[in-house]
Amino acid sequence: MDQDKLSILKSCFGYTSFRPGQEAVIDALLAGRDALAVMPTGAGKSLCYQIPALLLEGITVIISPLISLMKDQVNALEDAEIPAAYLNSSLSPDEYSDTIFRAVQGDIKILYIAPERLQRGLPPQLVEAQEIAMVVIDEAHCISQWGHDFRPSYLYITDFIRQLPKRPITAAFTATATGKVREDIMSILDLEEPYTIITGFNRENLYFEVQRPKDKFQALMEILRSRKNKSGIIYCSTRKSVEEISRTLSDRGFAATRYHAGLDDGERHRNQDDFIYDRKTIMVATNAFGMGIDKSNVSFVIHYNMPKNIESYYQEAGRAGRDGEAADCILLYSPQDVRINQFLIHNGQDDEAEKDEARIEHNLELLKAMTFYATSPDCLRSRLLGYFGETAPHYCGNCSNCNTVFEDIDITIPAQKIISCVYRIEQQGRRFGKAMIVNILRGSKLEKIKTLALDKLSTYGIMADMDAHRIRTMLDYLVEQKYLAVSADEYPVVYLVPKSKEIIVEKQPLSMKLPKEQKRKTEQPLREEETYTGTAGTGFGSDESGRTSGAGLGRRSQSARSDYGPSSALEPGDEGLFTRLKELRTRLAQEAHVPPYIIFSDASLRDMCRKRPVNREQFLQVSGVGSVKLDKYGEVFISLIADT
Ligand code: ADP
Ligand code: MG
Repeated sequence: MDQDKLSILKSCFGYTSFRPGQEAVIDALLAGRDALAVMPTGAGKSLCYQIPALLLEGITVIISPLISLMKDQVNALEDAEIPAAYLNSSLSPDEYSDTIFRAVQGDIKILYIAPERLQRGLPPQLVEAQEIAMVVIDEAHCISQWGHDFRPSYLYITDFIRQLPKRPITAAFTATATGKVREDIMSILDLEEPYTIITGFNRENLYFEVQRPKDKFQALMEILRSRKNKSGIIYCSTRKSVEEISRTLSDRGFAATRYHAGLDDGERHRNQDDFIYDRKTIMVATNAFGMGIDKSNVSFVIHYNMPKNIESYYQEAGRAGRDGEAADCILLYSPQDVRINQFLIHNGQDDEAEKDEARIEHNLELLKAMTFYATSPDCLRSRLLGYFGETAPHYCGNCSNCNTVFEDIDITIPAQKIISCVYRIEQQGRRFGKAMIVNILRGSKLEKIKTLALDKLSTYGIMADMDAHRIRTMLDYLVEQKYLAVSADEYPVVYLVPKSKEIIVEKQPLSMKLPKEQKRKTEQPLREEETYTGTAGTGFGSDESGRTSGAGLGRRSQSARSDYGPSSALEPGDEGLFTRLKELRTRLAQEAHVPPYIIFSDASLRDMCRKRPVNREQFLQVSGVGSVKLDKYGEVFISLIADT
């Protein structure tokens, strides 16, 4: 064979070396073994099966959950002149039979297929004419009910494989899989002694931050202000807030668009394309947006609301920085995000299965872990990695907690006050949620407090001199440390547990890490166009805590991270060339009707700025340039570089 994995890596994909894990998976598949690979977003899973697919005799079938993802991958392969195609509901009957015909002829090596389409089986003439050498299940977590994107049609994959005349190599890939989900993948797909690889989940180029703003919209404006011209996604939990925020951003001159399941197909596609083709830099969306969208230059992902579990969060946030460049993942947390999620878990969304007891319990546990992430003073990266079962150092230096000055604070007395308050409430035969407890401790004048005579409690107002946010942080900590418990029903209430005694009876000393109380920055006067008066929240009212920024107090300056993460930033003086390269790429992409990143990634353009190739040989050295891209694009790019 004149082609081997390394020559294909260079000639078809333009890369000179494998990323961690890729080669081992490729070797296992080429040796005929099944495989299960859990690798983070952006790790390069596609190459792990595309390269073997080109080397194995016969066709490789790839099951992929989203039409946009298939289209993207096939576009990219076709641009490198690799014989690939897809079968899904977007094809007309003619296109469908044409694709089948090409496949029967042996003109297709890589065939993407939607699970729903596969459920109806492949045409017999195809299975007779060509050997299916390998079946690849991309986004394999979709097969598990315990995953976050369960797709019932994935369950039919096993039947499909069993019906084939010869059992193909079976390979499953996913970015997020907890132990339970991994077991499901193995057993449902019937993987035979698979080569299993779980590369670290860590994505070094991502910066993680949690803010607890008093006014989320204002916080959002601040974040966006320092990221002009950068591409990013803002995730909201409801369609309504997507509408409000995208409209307000557009009114203020941001190039923003929107995406949620309530829009008609036409608009969804248009908006998605505007974002992918860089015509709009900001996408405001619900979680309906993004799975399988391989836009490599997303430089920030902001969560306007906290998602319901860490798996979803990490997957959504992980859409930032796929190109390996430094990128930011910022969560804007408020306590009502927790309540909304609890409500959604209890009332099921549209899915009946969501309502069974065990599942509700399970989902509430996942929500708890997410809430701890949002409220913890620990290294955020180590929290995330810990959740996926990885041990990580307690300090990463690239998250808002590591960059915040924390101090060990003695909270013995405040803890006694908080727990005593819960005790007094229980004495009255009542239980309340966290927000109410904070209100009582601060001596709130709420109507409800008067009517229930809670202002007569001996603990009413005993923490009036402390900021609500700080009390809440301590209360959260007491729950996390199990000195108090929270019920798991729809309106969760706080109650005493045997361990509470250690604080109020045994008077045990207690301390916790809290952000150093800094002198509040003199409030920056809002500029006129940034005074926001709408209710771009969730429609559930505003945050009851009284702070502009909590866990995210120590915001890192933009320059502080330059010594961290990848060193692929532009040299000063290269911006002009970079812009012109981007313009050329956009023009070529328009001519070919593909997104710009299908032609070259930003990383490739940056490498061109660095290497400034003047001939074909040098152009081939650029990362992402293989022989096909060299022939197609070499000349125009080389002459542009020479002219600049
Ligand atoms: P995943 O499916 O794991 O999220 P992809 O397969 O979409 O990731 O790859 C992410 C990006 O990394 C793509 O732009 C791809 O071209 C690039 N890539 C993959 N393998 C390599 C490699 N060995 N060297 C450089 N870039 C790579
Ligand atoms: Mg992928």
